[in-house]
Amino acid sequence: LRKKQPSAIELVNGILAGDKTALSRAITLVESTNPSHLEKATAVINSCLPHANKSVRIGITGVPGVGKSTFIEAFGKHLTGLGKKVAVLAVDPSSSLSHGSILGDKTRMEELVKDANAYIRPSASGDTLGGVARKTREAIILCEACGFDTIIIETVGVGQSETAVHSMVDFFLLLKISGAGDELQGIKRGIMEMADLIVINKADGDNIKRAKLAKTEFNRALHLFPAKASGWQPKVTTCSSITHEGIAETWQTISEFFDLTKANDFFGFRRSEQNSYWLTETINEQLKANFYSREDIAALLEQNKKAVQNNELSPFAAASILLEKYFGLK
Ligand code: GDP
Repeated sequence: LRKKQPSAIELVNGILAGDKTALSRAITLVESTNPSHLEKATAVINSCLPHANKSVRIGITGVPGVGKSTFIEAFGKHLTGLGKKVAVLAVDPSSSLSHGSILGDKTRMEELVKDANAYIRPSASGDTLGGVARKTREAIILCEACGFDTIIIETVGVGQSETAVHSMVDFFLLLKISGAGDELQGIKRGIMEMADLIVINKADGDNIKRAKLAKTEFNRALHLFPAKASGWQPKVTTCSSITHEGIAETWQTISEFFDLTKANDFFGFRRSEQNSYWLTETINEQLKANFYSREDIAALLEQNKKAVQNNELSPFAAASILLEKYFGLK
């Protein structure tokens, strides 16, 4: 016996009324890889879109063990304490490989998950980062339509996922811990460059002094980067996600960023840039997937590949033949 599935309109009404169950169901729908769900998912997204956008989106990255979930729990509780509604989503392209979501795991944020004004969604799985990122983008829209005004996107600081997250958030936070002195070692330049804020976590007990030194060192390094288009000078804060020391100050710093970028219009500019970026990304990805999934193309590709390998055909000529066939030009 199959349970009756809610219609698109029922889902949308539930979401707009702030119902988390409807929200979860809708996210499951947009995450579905079943082609028959696509039409309904699109209808739900389109109806939610006019109600989305009224939020701030914060990306948080850091290597495993740095304290992301502990930080998000403390930070999220601070925000709900201020009357905000917080949704936590995760981008974790590796989870499909490790057969389970490492991030956004509900059991890792016990207090926040019980909070009526918080919503935590385990990461979408998917074979490609692009696929996972698209699902996360759509989940953001659904969360915003459901009334969540602060969206936190968590990602693990390995691989390419930071770049994808950076392109869907307004603010990018890099979580670090103080090391053995040489703070900048092993940190990718690209990630430093993306950061609007570096938060040095675990600044408690014996660690406080080292955390302060790390702060100085990171601050110095951040000043060496070219000025950002946002007009914001990236900052460094220290905090303890256990004692909650520095959590309020961290939020204060993030608020200053939003005050600045809303006043100078960078906030809206960046969002529209991101929309066009995702438009192109989606077209690229879907064209590619469609191209390679077509049987006639696969057969012709196989045939042309051999010719290319045997130097009977140049790779460029072979590509032209394949593309002309794909687009029906020949
Ligand atoms: P994640 O892998 O980045 O999500 O890290 P977790 O949040 O799971 O934290 C990893 C470990 O660090 C856990 O044992 C936490 O209790 C500990 N931890 C996290 N934040 C702090 C902190 O601010 N101070 C201290 N002393 N320990 C922390």
